[in-house]
Amino acid sequence: MDAMTDTDRPFDLNEDQRSMQDMVSNFAREKVAPFAVDWDQDRHLPLDVIRQTAELGMGGIYVAEDVGGSALTRLDAAVIFEALATGCPALSAFISIHNMAAWMIDLYGNEEQRQRILPQLTSMEKIASYCLTEPGSGSDAAALKTTAIRDGDCYVLNGTKQFISGAGSNDLYVVMARTGEVGPKGISCFIVEKDTPGLSFGAEEKKMGWHI
Ligand SMILES: Cc1cc2nc3c(=O)[nH]c(=O)nc-3n(C[C@H](O)[C@H](O)[C@H](O)COP(=O)(O)OP(=O)(O)OC[C@H]3O[C@@H](n4cnc5c(N)ncnc54)[C@H](O)[C@@H]3O)c2cc1C
Repeated sequence: MDAMTDTDRPFDLNEDQRSMQDMVSNFAREKVAPFAVDWDQDRHLPLDVIRQTAELGMGGIYVAEDVGGSALTRLDAAVIFEALATGCPALSAFISIHNMAAWMIDLYGNEEQRQRILPQLTSMEKIASYCLTEPGSGSDAAALKTTAIRDGDCYVLNGTKQFISGAGSNDLYVVMARTGEVGPKGISCFIVEKDTPGLSFGAEEKKMGWHI
């Protein structure tokens, strides 16, 4: 057999990534896998275990360090989520969504929002949802219909989101809504807290697995 070329194997994980992979795989094997079936069948969201991942730096994997993030790369995050998913793919996806929401606030939020919100997200004292999908727009996300209309110092949001992981239990909702023209350029992002007046949650979807 011919030796592997650089094209066959474009990169290798470095030493740090391998030790991170080992650490998360151990966590998945010991703290997640033995309980994952029960969590799913009991519809139990294991917040205690989810918060333990924050102690390992998974509350803001690619969020800046000044607000408690780990300042790692997207590739590092992929390695972490792949290892975590060996214990429970739903738990791994749930934490990846929290990370996605935290990163959006880190990158696009103003300094006041970053300093006020992100330390609570990177420590996972609070957990965030990412709210893009709607009943009529999934893959074609830019067709979303939720509107945000300015009213004095506030925006009033109107619309329905669907398939939102953590809806009803999470503390913060990063919501995509239309403030401008039709298409992707007319969409803005809002941070909505769980107890915001007018925010309500529907019944849980019937689905196979993915119940946490
Ligand atoms: C467990 C779970 C958790 C989720 N969590 C979240 C969440 O936290 N936040 C959130 O915003 N969303 C969430 N979603 C929603 C998810 O992102 C959407 O399901 C996804 O965007 C696909 O949208 P859809 O289900 O409406 O399918 P559709 O967009 O209707 O697509 C159906 C099928 O048609 C194909 N298709 C669509 N358009 C085209 C095209 N133009 N050409 C060819 N094929 C096409 C798709 O590939 C797919 O196979 C979650 C979904 C699941 C299942």
